[in-house]
Amino acid sequence: MKSVWIQENTWQDVADYLKHDDTVILPIGSTEQHGPAGPLGVDTYAAIGLCEDAAKKTGVMVAPPLWFGDSPHHLGFPGTISLRSETLILVIKDIVHTLYQNGFRKFILLNGHKGTNLAPMTVAARGLLEYELKDIRIAISDPLYLCTNAQEIKGNVAEHHAGVLEISHVMYKFPGLVKEDKQNHNAVDLSNEFDHYIKPDLFGPASGVFADVLWSSRDQKAFAPTGSFSDSSNASAEMGKAYHENMVQNFAEFIEWFKTSVSPEEKYK
Ligand SMILES: [Zn+2]
Repeated sequence: MKSVWIQENTWQDVADYLKHDDTVILPIGSTEQHGPAGPLGVDTYAAIGLCEDAAKKTGVMVAPPLWFGDSPHHLGFPGTISLRSETLILVIKDIVHTLYQNGFRKFILLNGHKGTNLAPMTVAARGLLEYELKDIRIAISDPLYLCTNAQEIKGNVAEHHAGVLEISHVMYKFPGLVKEDKQNHNAVDLSNEFDHYIKPDLFGPASGVFADVLWSSRDQKAFAPTGSFSDSSNASAEMGKAYHENMVQNFAEFIEWFKTSVSPEEKYK
């Protein structure tokens, strides 16, 4: 195939692919504010970059990226476009149903939105597998699961939203989109709003007692008036490369395993 992207191939190319493989990756991102430095598409660019490079290593096809995710808490900032969780569940289900009709049976949903989106993605995947398309295999991945070198490359600087890792990622994969002179130096101290019940660093160690205290777009605008939560002043293309390559390697290894794996139901039949 000339491209890993379904939309860059013809229907006959896809039919040829389906003769020997039935795995497809669905990149799911968002269009939401990422502070004064980051473009609104950060999460979708992250999903595109990871899916494209891991697919090239493994020879699997990638569906066109979904540019909209579950982002209501960012709606205080212009340019943010959000789907309701219920809508996102239905969109994912329709995409999987139609790809199933094509002949695909193994689906990897890759979330570029780091944590957010995972709830509706999981609801969609569970419903599909248990009640709707019983012979599929379906998996969900996310930078929070894939990155194994965050501490090593960024040190102890906390990564939450529009932080040094996601901004560096775009600098590396999509040069020119980050406004480097607008990098955030002042991290929001999330413990002012949520005490110790919020993880200050999404990529940090998981010890402690946490609770998901939700916040609205009004709350977010109040505690993070620029939209950025995290210090991104040390972001660089070099850091983005180390972050990206680590995740692509880990994702490619997962894809290789997943595409030949069988369900326990099948295995123990
Ligand atoms: Zn983001």
